[in-house]
Amino acid sequence: KENFETREFQAEVKQLLDIVVNSLYTEREIFLRELISNSVDALEKFRYQSVISSDLADKDALPLEISIEVDENNKTVTVADTGIGMTRDELVENLGTIAHSGSKEFIRQLKESEQKDLNLIGQFGVGFYSAFMVAKKIRVLTRSYRPGEPGYEWVSSGIGSYDLGPAADLRRGTRIILELKEDAADFTKPDRIKELIRQYSGFVPFPIKVNGEQVNTVQAIWARNKSEVTAEEYNEFYKFIANAFDEPLYQLHFSADAPLAINSLLFVPKHNYERYGFGRMEPGVNLYSRKVLIQQQSDNILPEWLRFVKGVVDSEDIPLNISRETTQDSALMNKLQKVITGRFLKFLNKQSQEDPAKYAEFWNTFGMFLKEGATTDFAYRDELAKLLRFESSGAEPGQLVALADYAGRMKEGQKDIYFINGPSREVIEAGPYLEVFRSCGYEVIYTYEPIDDFVLSNLREYEGKKLVSADSANLELPGLADQPGEEALDSAKTEALTAWLKEILGDKVSEVRSSARLVESPAIMLNLDGVLTSSMQRVMQAAHK
Ligand code: ADP
Ligand code: MG
Repeated sequence: KENFETREFQAEVKQLLDIVVNSLYTEREIFLRELISNSVDALEKFRYQSVISSDLADKDALPLEISIEVDENNKTVTVADTGIGMTRDELVENLGTIAHSGSKEFIRQLKESEQKDLNLIGQFGVGFYSAFMVAKKIRVLTRSYRPGEPGYEWVSSGIGSYDLGPAADLRRGTRIILELKEDAADFTKPDRIKELIRQYSGFVPFPIKVNGEQVNTVQAIWARNKSEVTAEEYNEFYKFIANAFDEPLYQLHFSADAPLAINSLLFVPKHNYERYGFGRMEPGVNLYSRKVLIQQQSDNILPEWLRFVKGVVDSEDIPLNISRETTQDSALMNKLQKVITGRFLKFLNKQSQEDPAKYAEFWNTFGMFLKEGATTDFAYRDELAKLLRFESSGAEPGQLVALADYAGRMKEGQKDIYFINGPSREVIEAGPYLEVFRSCGYEVIYTYEPIDDFVLSNLREYEGKKLVSADSANLELPGLADQPGEEALDSAKTEALTAWLKEILGDKVSEVRSSARLVESPAIMLNLDGVLTSSMQRVMQAAHK
């Protein structure tokens, strides 16, 4: 074609397309969900622009909608929207490169796996390319909402490169034309497409038309009354908003009038991809005002450590034209964050009491984020302390204990809460630190990860009880002052032995002393200043290497 140029895909895109084009998939239909979700994004961005600015291409002339056309004779599926469209630079950037580090890890894992599962593709910012599962050739016709921007055409068969050039007579928005592979002709059946839309995209907040006929019912489910929404509707909405294919672990739907007017619907997913090394999660909650999307994946509605939460927060008290800068530090946004975060943590606490087994599942998957919060965020310290769970000497292996459980069964006269860090329950229980606690019958919390000690040291205390590492040198425990046994060394010999040990160990220790603290073991390493536990010291040393 005239004035077209051929451009190479970025290396990562080539790798991804190589897999997408050349592998066989069972769930190819997800391509439609991905294209529709891109159209929704584009329409929401346009709706937002049209609220804050008046100078836009085709501003009032085009209805905000998605139209899908299938052509059984030519074997094509076309997905068109009247969203923001793309400029030439945006086309090159968005449909030729991959920026996000998580998507690179996704591609690497996809390459190595036998069973290629593309269902997650949308979560890694590369959903568009899934269309090459069913298309042998894709044409993208697009025109930006910016006045004066011309239209462009992008064409590719997904192998190595794409062609890019001008396109005349386009209106605002994007039209994606898939020339289907021979074995994907099924997708030209209108009934099949309608069924898929109902299955995957029922909650899209814009009309979706298939060959002219509207398929979905448009609704902002979060603004409806709780009692009028069915479990299935919640699940479907979750799948839509979180790009997920399964059901959420938790869901919290609430409204408030004071101190702000809020309609909010939050979800906790079942899986934590950050834990599997897919890179840092993006925030997952969208900010709306009167059903207009203000900020997608807003980083201000919840603190960073709640980035695993998905959902929608709609507040009519947030002005529509609030700018990105103002969402970052306005008093209003701070207030909103406080309300939503407090509400969510309270919800978790309630869940933990109502269904401890389910909460344990949550804790094992997302506990790392609450620990992150407990070490970095002072504002929610008390709420977070209630949500922490650990194993302990007072519970069966695998059973989790809350600080409240511990506090509730402390021995008479016991003032502090004790914890000890070790790689596993077996190692801790075989070590010397527990001896004295066993002999006086005090429970000890087991922590298996170095961050746990930072969490507990940061908390300092729980309901007036100090959190103390069991390896600190100055423990006040009953029985420590007891008479030494018959086989004990006399004081002269003890002094000679400790002096000799100090000489041998030199700078490695600051003090060697005798103690009544051990029952079975001959010697123990203790932590004199008690500020950093030994596990924290190991972390610091590793960090300074
Ligand atoms: P993601 O949607 O997660 O960003 P995709 O691979 O699905 O990843 O899409 C890549 C980008 O291409 C989008 O972020 C968007 O900028 C652009 N894009 C895709 N489809 C459209 C569309 N219909 N209208 C406007 N931009 C689009
Ligand atoms: Mg997408």
